Amino acid sequence: MERFRMELESLSKNEEFARVVTAVFMSRMNPTLEEIEDVKTAVSEAVTNAEIHGYRGGNGLIRLDAEIDGQQLTIRVSDAGVGISDVRRAMEPMFTTDKSGERSGMGFSFMEAFMDEVQVESAPGEGTRVTLKKQICKSV
Ligand code: ATP
Ligand code: MG
Repeated sequence: MERFRMELESLSKNEEFARVVTAVFMSRMNPTLEEIEDVKTAVSEAVTNAEIHGYRGGNGLIRLDAEIDGQQLTIRVSDAGVGISDVRRAMEPMFTTDKSGERSGMGFSFMEAFMDEVQVESAPGEGTRVTLKKQICKSV
C-alpha cells in the first residue's frame, strides 16, 4: 500500500496541480496513457466542483488523498464547503445548480464514465467527499 495526501487552496490553478500530481503518483502502476487521461479528467472534475460549488469560488482547503493497493487506485477529493442536499439528483446527467449557463452538469457523469466507481458523501454545511476508484491494468 502506498499513499499520499495533500491540501490545496481552492484556486483554479490548483486544479492543474492536482491533476499532474495524481498522474505522477499513478505512473508507478504502469498505466496506459488512456488510463492516466481518464484519472486526470475525473480528478479535474472533482477538484473543480470543490472550488466552484463547494467553496463558491471563495477560499477553502481541498484535500487530495490517493492510495495504491496492488493495481487498485483510490483517490479522494474532499472539501469543507457548502455540501450537497440531494446527492442522487446532483449526480444525474445534466443536473446543475449553475445559473450562468457555463456548466453542463456533466462532471459526475464524466467521473462515472472514466472511473470504475464513484462514491459521493455529502451533507449541507458539512462539505463533500468524492471517492474515485479504478483498477489499472498491468501493462508489460
Ligand atoms: P460541469 O461539471 O459539467 O461543469 P456541474 O459542475 O454543475 O457542471 P456536476 O459536476 O455533475 O455538474 O455537479 C452537479 C451539481 O452537484 C453541481 O451543479 C452542484 O450543485 C453539485 N456539486 C458538485 N460537487 C459539489 C461540491 N463539491 N460541493 C457542493 N456542491 C457540489
Ligand atoms: Mg462539475
